[in-house]
Order: sequence, then structure tokens, then C-alpha cells
Amino acid sequence: MTILVLAEQRDGKVKKASYEAIKAASAVATQLNATVTAVLFGADEAAAKSLGGYGAAKTVFVADERLHFYANSAYVKSVAQIMEKEAADVVMLPATSLGKDLAPRLAVRIDGALAPDVTSIAVEDGAIVAQRPVYAGKSVIKVKINSAKQVFSLRPNVFSAGEASGTEAVVENFAPALDDADFVTKATGTTIASGKIDVAEANVIVSGGRGLQGPEHWPLIQGLADTLGAATGASRAVVDAGWRPHAEQVGQTGKTVSPNLYVACGISGAIQHLAGMSSSKCIVAINKDKDAPIFQVADYGIVGDVFEVVPALTEELKSFFGK
Ligand SMILES: Cc1cc2nc3c(=O)[nH]c(=O)nc-3n(C[C@H](O)[C@H](O)[C@H](O)COP(=O)(O)OP(=O)(O)OC[C@H]3O[C@@H](n4cnc5c(N)ncnc54)[C@H](O)[C@@H]3O)c2cc1C
Repeated sequence: MTILVLAEQRDGKVKKASYEAIKAASAVATQLNATVTAVLFGADEAAAKSLGGYGAAKTVFVADERLHFYANSAYVKSVAQIMEKEAADVVMLPATSLGKDLAPRLAVRIDGALAPDVTSIAVEDGAIVAQRPVYAGKSVIKVKINSAKQVFSLRPNVFSAGEASGTEAVVENFAPALDDADFVTKATGTTIASGKIDVAEANVIVSGGRGLQGPEHWPLIQGLADTLGAATGASRAVVDAGWRPHAEQVGQTGKTVSPNLYVACGISGAIQHLAGMSSSKCIVAINKDKDAPIFQVADYGIVGDVFEVVPALTEELKSFFGK
């Protein structure tokens, strides 16, 4: 049995979430006596080999330049062809923006089913069983797919990639059979809108809410984030008010994040915000209202004024890090 893992790259660099997915797949594969085959569109053969360090025995490497940028119809068709070639019934991929777009299309294409955005995956009685948050993170359900063909998208930053072992994957080149009609859209280039760390991929996030009172106070958040080497996030109230771009919004209608550390400053903790960040490993909340709902999910809570606490915290951390 083969488990296929779709690895994702950007600008030739494999995304960390792909290593996490391969590592998680390989733990499942061990229990099922299966092997893991990675699929990589673009980057280079060295990157394809490196996936072996996380548990892929083989990487199917697709060098076709038309696929260096994500093109959904062409990717779906290519992955379906690779599944057939590898006799793989199970596909895992990171639940990134690309993964969230691709996974349901693929499930339909292969006449299978999808367990999206899973936060745990294991084997029970010989079947793969996953868990995923539902109702905006209020509950977690256990999912077992009954169809033979199965797709699982794995929430980034939840599964540990660990250190690469140094083992290299066998690389097999593959040219999918695609025609022009498969490229219904074509990305012709990228423009970097911001050189900052993407909130969805960050290990540490400092987020600000309406408690900041206005965009002129955002340097407080940025200062703490810079000290911690963190990305900045925002509540929807802040984004709707135009203080911050939507790319930074965390929550139900923003991004889902699972960093090691999430610092919420002046954020009430509405259910729609919690939906995007409650799987963070350590949550620190700073809010002047001791009854704010954010404290119910926080590991550490500071009841206080952001205008006093955040500068003091930043100064302490600066001297701690010798900055
Ligand atoms: C369909 C739908 C989807 C949504 N999607 C999202 C989403 O994706 N993400 C999201 O965030 N929201 C989302 N929302 C909005 C959500 O319901 C809340 O309105 C929003 O999260 C509130 O943002 P906030 O916590 O910054 O502001 P508020 O709720 O106004 O909270 C501000 C907090 O700051 C504290 N505060 C004020 N001054 C200070 C101070 N000086 N020092 C310390 N603390 C202070 C207050 O005590 C308060 O708790 C959605 C809503 C709906 C209906």
C-alpha cells in the first residue's frame, strides 16, 4: 500500500507544512505496513530527494514548468494520474490555501472522500481515523472515510516535522499527460505584497484587536512581534476598520493558525476569532477585562492595559534577548 503526500513549494523552497504532512503520513504508513511517496511540482531534484529525510521513500518529481505555479485543474488531473500510476488510494496534503483548494477537487475527481483540516491522524482497526475541529473549534469530531479513495488535508503547524534524518528519497521523474484545456487559468508571475512572515506559517504570532484603539498604535504590536521574530495577526474588527490588511486576519473568515506561541493583545476572543487560533500551542492574552472570553482559552493571561503591558513586555524581552 502507498500513501501519496503532495508536497508544496514556493519559489523552489519546500514548505514546512509539507514536511509535517510527510512525517505524519509516515507514522500512519508504519502502522499500515505501507510506504510514503511524495509528489513535488517544481523546485528541483535536490528538494525532491530531501523529502526522504521526513519519511518519503520515493518522490515523484514533476518538472513541467507550467506547473511551477498552482493551476488547480492541471494539478488535480496530475495527482489523479500519479495515484493511478502508484496504485495509491490515500492522499495526504497540507491544509494550506493551495491544499484547501485542491483537496475537495481531488476527492471529487477520484470518486473518493475528504477529511479536511485534520489535527490528528492515527490507525484504528486497520483504518485511518482522523480528528478535526468543528463548530468553529468548539468540538472535535473523529472521522473515518468509508470510500476506498481517501484524501486528508492536515492543518499546518499541528504535526511535528522533527529533524530531517538525512535519508534521501528515490526521485522518479513524471510528465503528466496534460493539454491546454487543463490550464483554465494561468499564473504569469507573482508580486511580493509584503516581505513579512505569513501569519498562517508563523511559529510565533502577535495579534492585535480593537483594544488598540487605532492604527496609529499598531507599532506597539509590531515592536513586540519584531522582538519575538513573530508575524503580526489581527482580529476582524481591526481588518474591517482598515487598520490592517485582510491577509493578517485570524479566524473563521480569515486564516487558521497553529503557532507555538500566540499573543492576543486587546482581543476579546469572540468565537469566530477563536475558530482560527484555538489550536495554538501556547496562548497569551492581554486584556483589561478580566471576563473577556479570550482568557478561557489562554494558557497565560495578563489583565491589564495593552498600552502599559505591551511596551513593558517588549522592553523586558529586548533585554532578555540582548537586543
Ligand atoms: C460570520 C462572522 C465571521 C467572523 N469572522 C471573524 C474572524 O475571522 N476573525 C475575527 O477576529 N473575528 C471575526 N468575526 C467578528 C467577531 O465576532 C468579533 O466581532 C471580532 O473578533 C472582535 O474583534 P476584537 O476582539 O478585536 O474587538 P472587540 O470585541 O471590540 O474586543 C476588544 C477587546 O479589547 C479589550 N480592550 C479594550 N481596550 C483595551 C486596552 N486598553 N487594553 C487591553 N484590552 C483592551 C476589550 O476589553 C475587549 O475585550 C466574525 C463575525 C461573524 C459574524
